[in-house]
Amino acid sequence: MSPSDDREVIRSRLEELEQRTADDFESVEAPAALIELYARERDWPDLVRRAELIGADVAGRRGDVATQGQVAKRINQWAAEHGDAFLLARSHRLLAIFFRRIGDAAEALGHAVAGVRHADVMSPPLRCSQIITLALLLDLNGRFAEAERRFAEALDIAVAIGHAGLTLTILNNMAFTAYENEEFENANRLAEQMRRTASEAGLQLDGLYLDTLARICLAQGRHAEAERILEPVLRDPDGPLVSEGDSLPECLLTLAEIQAATGRVDEAGATLGEVSRLCGERGLAAVAARARQARAEWHAAGGRFREAYEEYRAFHEDSEALHSAQREARAYALHAVYEADEARRVSAGLREIAHRDALTGLFNRRHIDERLAAMVADAQRTGEPLSVAIVDLDHFKTINDTFSHAVGDMVLRELGSTLAGAVSGAECAARLGGEEFVLLLPGTGAEAAAVRCADLSSRIRAMDWAELTGAHRVTASIGVATDADGRMSAGELLAAADENMYAAKRAGRDRVVAGFAD
Ligand code: GH3
Ligand code: MG
Ligand code: MG
Repeated sequence: MSPSDDREVIRSRLEELEQRTADDFESVEAPAALIELYARERDWPDLVRRAELIGADVAGRRGDVATQGQVAKRINQWAAEHGDAFLLARSHRLLAIFFRRIGDAAEALGHAVAGVRHADVMSPPLRCSQIITLALLLDLNGRFAEAERRFAEALDIAVAIGHAGLTLTILNNMAFTAYENEEFENANRLAEQMRRTASEAGLQLDGLYLDTLARICLAQGRHAEAERILEPVLRDPDGPLVSEGDSLPECLLTLAEIQAATGRVDEAGATLGEVSRLCGERGLAAVAARARQARAEWHAAGGRFREAYEEYRAFHEDSEALHSAQREARAYALHAVYEADEARRVSAGLREIAHRDALTGLFNRRHIDERLAAMVADAQRTGEPLSVAIVDLDHFKTINDTFSHAVGDMVLRELGSTLAGAVSGAECAARLGGEEFVLLLPGTGAEAAAVRCADLSSRIRAMDWAELTGAHRVTASIGVATDADGRMSAGELLAAADENMYAAKRAGRDRVVAGFAD
């Protein structure tokens, strides 16, 4: 087998594991670890990192959130530095999940947006998962209309490729949202679509999905139907339909509500007791808190106010303990991620840290000074052309002022990775400071540089920023200068590019001005 065939085999194995992680994460860990070793021996750094991300995903699903965050962050930085769109997309998605798990919904959304922005290079099933993550986070951040649009987009992909698993995930989320918003007609239609999808694919709906369907019926007073839906789960609580730790207690909570609503008070009490027992056994603090609340209501409905009061008190104590445990876990995870970051910087040497911009992962001003000096010396020796472009975001202050400094930072990071992807070989992209970037393009003449910058300018304009900045468009003004035959100094080149950048601003922004200095 030729090395490139060999690489392709490994790449498609990885793709298969990446797709499988959501359904069956335990089974992907060992093969991913083997591939990681194999790819390391063959010196395929991107595939090593893809395998590492699978491991990190598994760690997160097991509850080791700190490891998930550390690995995702390190690989995200590497991907930004190397302009690797696939790894950028995957690592941003894992960071989104990391920040959601530690309770930072806004930061999670920023990463989910970036995860979708770079997902064009992915296969449809993986791209679909990226979009689902974004939709869930839009929902969590209260951006309901955008969330709905993204769910619909993901659904189109899942249906088009005939992927029943993804289709069900999406429908379940849409149906649950419709139920929560009391849009029952919509919820019924989606529930029906879930049933049809499962039966056409020969799949049985698992516990969490059945719970959604049961809740939709319960909310509309269809008690008998709701109870019938839960029946397969309750009949075989250790069976295959109960795939996740919290799906049985969730179904039992729903059952208790059905029992209470149909006057079977004692049965409801017994069911709630069972939920508490399961939660204690499985360490499910969040569901346990809801069970206590339900028991308090159950006592109150039976006129046992003293017991109701005791349950409420326990509920508040539990949720206080839960929140402080969550706060601790969050602090620990953030600290671990930050510490790993520091350790890596120190071990990578002071040179690296001194030459990188922390926000975007691009090179910084100091690096540019050294590199440009070397490029100018080369150009003087060879007589080859050398172009420099300065890219400055338009009205960036307005973005900070209108949205937030954090959103401004995300825009800068996004632009940074676009620029990293726009250069190759001996070329170099860097952040000069603030919202000002530079491209060094050795061997590129004036006309070619102008064409490339015009292309970059329209790419920035065409990027979909809606999720970060709504209707506000993000554009840049670009000034290009070229030394055609090795006669300009570094300072002269930068000054000429800067001059042209300001000319672009004066001419109305969102454009390229290229000086054809010869
Ligand atoms: P123009 O179109 O003329 O370039 O307008 P502008 O608003 O982009 O330019 P101005 O120089 O007035 O403002 C740049 C802003 O960039 C001001 C500063 O607060 C912001 N900025 C600089 N560094 C950062 C950063 O690291 N993060 C964020 N979010 N904002 C930054
Ligand atoms: Mg600006
Ligand atoms: Mg500026």
